[in-house]
Amino acid sequence: MPLNLTDETPPQGFERLVRIEDPESGLRALICIHSTVLGPAAGGCRMWDYAGWDEARRDVQRLAEGMTYKNAMADLGLGGGKSVILGDARRDKTPQMFRAFGRAVNALEGAYYTAEDVGISPEDMAQVATETAYAVGLEGGQYGSGDPSPFTAEGVFQCLRVGVMHVFGSDDLTGRQVLIQGLGHVGMSLAEKLHAAGASLIVTDIDKAALARAERDLGARVIAPDQVFATQMDIFAPCALGAILDETTVPQLTAKLVCGAANNQLAQPGIAEELRARGIRYLPDYVVNAGGIISVAGEIHKAGPGYRRDRLSGIAARVDSMLARADKEGRTTTAIASDMVKEILASAERSV
Ligand code: NAD
Repeated sequence: MPLNLTDETPPQGFERLVRIEDPESGLRALICIHSTVLGPAAGGCRMWDYAGWDEARRDVQRLAEGMTYKNAMADLGLGGGKSVILGDARRDKTPQMFRAFGRAVNALEGAYYTAEDVGISPEDMAQVATETAYAVGLEGGQYGSGDPSPFTAEGVFQCLRVGVMHVFGSDDLTGRQVLIQGLGHVGMSLAEKLHAAGASLIVTDIDKAALARAERDLGARVIAPDQVFATQMDIFAPCALGAILDETTVPQLTAKLVCGAANNQLAQPGIAEELRARGIRYLPDYVVNAGGIISVAGEIHKAGPGYRRDRLSGIAARVDSMLARADKEGRTTTAIASDMVKEILASAERSV
């Protein structure tokens, strides 16, 4: 039985929503293209045990729109899209399923580039890549971008420095107390950069080995995971969990700046206003953690190392103008970032 691709009616403001069913491999997936105004859509593929098509549709649409914003702010010449595979990543994966998904991506003829997201490994993506040239985030090959985490950490570091300049009037990190929540792939690399720049580190994680390493090698002070909001700090760098900033935690937060890699740090959009009201500068997560997609974009465009370097400093420059505008207009950084994306899209639409 052949692969079944059905174009569904996308919601208003979206370009395309494709449902994929392959009875032979059991693949059930959706590809959503939010916008190709700036270039072909790019965004990862997530495998998740959704309750059904409706839940999967809501998620893929939300994620695809988010990629339009992220890719626009990082100046990648790429639009926003995302895909989801319905299933349990620990139980339901097969190579045949990923090859069928690769054929579906290929059928879109380059309108959408896919890569790893939650539940998808580089090995899975390698299977996808046997069927299509529009699979990226690969390990080998001339342009394979591999682990994006070092780029994400570098982007967060550069943006954090810009934030420090705005808040404290100098970008000197010597003795500044930075609390890093989560010492994983991104958090540990960020900790090393901050330590080298003279910052004083406070760290927390549930992984004791990572904490011991940071304490030993970086002179970090270790705190328990539930002590984050009871701790005095200058800068908060969330690099673990989402939704950590909410009505309960924000009133306790002593930091003057929040800049970290974790996705979806605000429990709800309104929290941005709470942070602003308390004089805390919040650097939107999707802007500062774009190093990973910048790395992947280098693979899509078959670009040399200069491309990634320029884009990383580009996001820091955008954060600089975002902060200046937020102060001048008395608005939240999230509102300004969203205006900046709309301006970028409108200007691209005018120039076609
Ligand atoms: P990771 O899984 O390598 O690291 C996460 C760390 O957080 C782990 O060390 C884990 O033990 C720790 N952790 C879990 N629960 C915790 C808790 N309650 N308190 C403190 N620490 C806890 O993930 P990563 O790749 O470093 O990514 C970190 C965050 O950044 C995630 O939210 C991820 O979605 C986001 N992000 C990552 C990238 C990337 O390139 N890796 C890109 C964009 C966004």
